[in-house]
Amino acid sequence: MARPTRFEHFRWLGDKRSMIVHDLDDLTEACGIDDLLASEQFLAFAPDTLAEARNRGYAPCRHCVPRHTEE
Ligand SMILES: [Zn+2]
Repeated sequence: MARPTRFEHFRWLGDKRSMIVHDLDDLTEACGIDDLLASEQFLAFAPDTLAEARNRGYAPCRHCVPRHTEE
């Protein structure tokens, strides 16, 4: 699945509605990223890491992040 071009400089994208973080390098259809982008209830992280997302209370998406959950 193609990553959204507007996020070409980010890897991790959080969904404020569900408190889920997605890996833009490994998106799946199940992520519903188009719906998330349409809702505009997303945010990027600084630094752009899974650890930072988790520090902010975001849970890894079970569709695109499972291989990284122990990072
Ligand atoms: Zn996902």
